[in-house]
This record gives sequence, structure tokens and C-alpha cells, in this order.
Amino acid sequence: MLLRMPGYCEKFRCIADRCKDSCCIGWEIDIDSDTASYYDNIGGKFGERLRSNISDGCFVLDQEERCPFLNKNGLCDIIIELGEDKLCQICSDHPRYFEWFGDVKEGGIGLCCEEAARLILSEEHIISECEVSDEGCDDYDVELYDLLRNARDMIISHLQDDSLPETVSVMVDFTEELQYNIDNGIFMIPDWTQTASPETPDIESIFSCFSELEPIRPEWLPYLSERLTYAKNINKLPKTDEVYLRRLAVYFVYRYFMKGTFDGEIVSRIKLSAVSTWMIGCLWECERLIKENCDFEQMCLIAKNYSKEVEYSEENLNVLADMFYDRACFTTQRIKGLFR
Ligand code: SF4
Repeated sequence: MLLRMPGYCEKFRCIADRCKDSCCIGWEIDIDSDTASYYDNIGGKFGERLRSNISDGCFVLDQEERCPFLNKNGLCDIIIELGEDKLCQICSDHPRYFEWFGDVKEGGIGLCCEEAARLILSEEHIISECEVSDEGCDDYDVELYDLLRNARDMIISHLQDDSLPETVSVMVDFTEELQYNIDNGIFMIPDWTQTASPETPDIESIFSCFSELEPIRPEWLPYLSERLTYAKNINKLPKTDEVYLRRLAVYFVYRYFMKGTFDGEIVSRIKLSAVSTWMIGCLWECERLIKENCDFEQMCLIAKNYSKEVEYSEENLNVLADMFYDRACFTTQRIKGLFR
């Protein structure tokens, strides 16, 4: 089968003990059945330690929610004792994500990891493809997949080549039209043109919607509430951030748009891409207003925090998807207004 990923994924290396927000802290880690059986048969003291720290198919996190195998130097004892190839699936994949479409496996690296965020923000999205061994895949709608793939390629090439405000603005109109076509069984790509006029955005309501989501870390909601004071005064995201915002928008479109192959739903996914890009850009600008500086490192950490809180919670993504249809601050016109 064909594996398709942005070329920069090959450069990804976990920075382990240098990571400021290790993925070995705060997440429940499910152990896949193959790895669980392997761990069951490890002998000696380390085998005993392994089994005594696994319960209900997961590692038993300590009081600070650290994985019991993350040692005090920030390194993984399983890698040290058994080797990197003996990690469970979730630990060896993370932060890589994958989606399967017949004989195509698509993937990338997720923004919730700070090192991945550095690559996503600093590298151009250039697809690289290679052959890998076959993996089973459920049925999918080939015609819909082809349509969405062509549409996604078109959106990404505009995001890479044209002005960001104009592209985001047309992208939401274009997706509304494409959604109409899909809902009516018309498998045609619409024209790339503006159809709705932008309206004044309601920044306070957008922040309020994000505050309704389930926080992952206790500091997130106070952070959002403090940033809102500054966000209300931001009329435009600075031109100097455009190159980074483009890469973020491409990341979100690439990752989420094709999920429409499985349920025919694309509008909420394009709104997620547009609003997430704007939110992260807005949080960068708030940081500058508060601290007079937001260097590249800080931009990566802010993007990573947003991703962790919003994108890496299935529940939050579902709530947001509903809000994109129900809430007045997320109409197509108002989202377009964010990028004027
Ligand atoms: S978040 Fe990324 S860099 Fe940090 S420990 Fe996990 S994979 Fe490594």
C-alpha cells in the first residue's frame, strides 16, 4: 500500500528529556494486545516491574500522572531496558497519526507535540509517498474520496500560493458549496470564488465557546480568560505571522478534510481549520501585547497547548463541530470576518 505523509515527518525525532511537556505525563496509555502479550512473557525483575505497573490494559500513572516508566531523567525505562522497538503501538506512533483509505495510508505528525510543532511551523508541506506493507482497511467511498482529495489539493495549493486572508475566506465559501453538492449527490468541484460577504467577528463569543470545552490542564481556562481582554482589541493578525499561519492552516486542512470520506461532513472540518488557525494566531498576538515578545519557540508552545486542549480531545472536537453549526459567532460570514 501507499504511505503518504508530509516530507518533514521524516525529520521528526522525539527530544525526550529536553521536552517541556512530555506526552508520557497526563495521558492514559493503552497497551495494544500484541505488546501486552510480549510484556507478559518478559522475565526477571524488569518483567515483574512491567506487569505490576499495568492495570486494565494501561500503564498505572503515578500521583503526578507520570508514566511509571518515565524515569527522573525524563527518559523511558522500557526503551533503556528492552529497546525502542518494544514500545506499545501508541508510544511508538505518537505524535504520528494515520488514516486509511483502501490501499492508501495517510499520516502526519500532530501539533500537540512541541517538537512536531516546530517542524509544522518551520517546514513547507510537501507530500512524500512510498510503498509500505499492506494493512487491512474498512470499505470507503472511492468516488467521494477522489472528489475530496482533489478539493483538498486545491485548497492547500491556494493556501500555499495566495494571500492567506483571501484564501481562508474563499475556502469556507468553497467548502459550503462543495458540501451542498455532496449532500445532493453532485460529485462536482465548485468554482473557487467568494460567495458570502464577511461580517464583523464576535471574538468574545468565540472565546466563550472555547471556554465551554472540557479543559485538559487546570491552567487553560484562566489563560483563555486573561487572553480575551487583549484579544478583543486585535483587529487583524499581523502580516509577519502569515507564513506560520499558512502552515498551520495547511496542517489542519490536510489532517481533517479527508475525514469527510467516512461521513460526508466537510464544513465543520474546514471551519475547525480556519478557526484554529485564527485562534493560535490571536494567542500569539495576545502574547506580544502582554509580554512584548513572542519568539518562534513561544509560538510553537502556544500552538502545542492549543492543539493539546482542543484537537487532542475527541469530545472537544465533537462539541466544537456542533458549535460550528449552532453558534452565531461561527457562521461562514463571521469566520470570514476573522481574516479581513
Ligand atoms: S511530546 Fe513529542 S518531544 Fe515530547 S516526549 Fe512526547 S514525542 Fe517526545
